[in-house]
Amino acid sequence: MKIIVLKFGGTSVGTTDRIKKVAKIIAKYKKNYNVIVLSSAMSGVTNNLINLSKKISKNFSDSEYDVLVSSGEQMSCALISGELINQGFNSRSWVSWQIPINTEGKYKFSRINKINKSKILSYIKKGGIPIITGFQGINNKNRITTIGRGGTDASAIMFAKFFNAEKCIIYTDVDGVYSTDPNKLKSAKKIKIISYEEMLEMASLGAKVMQPHSIQDARLNRVDIEVRSSFTDNEGTLITKRKNIINSKIITGISNTTNDAKVTLLGVKDKPGIAASIFKPLSENSINVDMVVQNISANGKETDLTFTIKSDDLSKTKKIILQNKKINFRDLIFDKNVSKVSIIGVGMVTTPGVTYRMFQSLAKQKINIQVISTSEIKISVLIDKKNVRKAISSLHKEFKLNK
Ligand code: ADP
Ligand code: ASP
Ligand code: MG
Repeated sequence: MKIIVLKFGGTSVGTTDRIKKVAKIIAKYKKNYNVIVLSSAMSGVTNNLINLSKKISKNFSDSEYDVLVSSGEQMSCALISGELINQGFNSRSWVSWQIPINTEGKYKFSRINKINKSKILSYIKKGGIPIITGFQGINNKNRITTIGRGGTDASAIMFAKFFNAEKCIIYTDVDGVYSTDPNKLKSAKKIKIISYEEMLEMASLGAKVMQPHSIQDARLNRVDIEVRSSFTDNEGTLITKRKNIINSKIITGISNTTNDAKVTLLGVKDKPGIAASIFKPLSENSINVDMVVQNISANGKETDLTFTIKSDDLSKTKKIILQNKKINFRDLIFDKNVSKVSIIGVGMVTTPGVTYRMFQSLAKQKINIQVISTSEIKISVLIDKKNVRKAISSLHKEFKLNK
């Protein structure tokens, strides 16, 4: 029998009633497939665990953080298994080290690199339904690791790859990937089919519906993903390779971030190597600099440099810049009230005038653009946080995404 991988997100397993519904979905697939289930923690549980670590210390140990926050998944998996057993199925929960799921990289941000298949294969061959903890694995020191918030998406995709599954279905609380977050814009439209490249940009630029790393893994391993709702039977969205898509739209989707911060250094000496002196210590401290803009210097001596980082990195960045003896500047300004709004679409590669239409549409709404960055298939602008809804709604109309 063919293998199918099903992933259930936090809201889908958020209550015992929801878990009963999830068990019904699993049972339906069991008729035609060998089913492998990956589950997230019940919604809110991971956040609560993280808050507990913060109450102990601001500098809580990374390795113990992973042990702590991975525990939510054990709970939900046992509940799903327990319900399936109640219904007469042969099921058991598996914690990642029992399989094992191997990871590499740093605590909190590891990546799955291998899944041992033997135990799960023999279990499903005997008709069992394994319910496996998402979001985690073990490293080569035999210690528990986690793979980044929302990581169960990536766990599911790696299971689909290693077990050569026929399908990988991500069950969540919306019935697919929309042109923009449907909980924020009513006219958002479901996308029937979307390329890995576009989904990766949308996810990296703020669309929470899929974890960005999971899309990288899917693209690399050519795993097709179906995103659908555990609340309704509606058809979902297929995430697949570009070749499978005949797309007539210029723009596929709009995303926005909620955790960016803007840093401006005023009156920096305008000489070669200055930007490198500012960014080198940031990169050495794993601070990711995203958008950058440098003003043309009016007098040829001084310039202003603006860049964005994740707001979590703000205090660390401030400290590093103030301690940096290689740079001089007149003033340092921080702004957390910013958001990056991006339009994404492979169609823009062949369509001129997209940038103009985006800027014109924002100008009509009197929205000031602070920083711009582009790639082949996306244009991002940094704007005041309070204008995000207005911006998304006007861009959604401009590019006819509700049609
Ligand atoms: P899960 O717990 O199932 O992993 P998430 O909360 O991580 O679910 O992701 C689902 C949420 O993603 C939705 O509730 C929705 O608000 C949000 N979202 C953001 N952008 C989009 C989009 N473009 N399409 C669909 N959902 C989106
Ligand atoms: N429970 C984890 C989180 O909240 C992983 C996941 O939901 O996929 O980030
Ligand atoms: Mg998620």
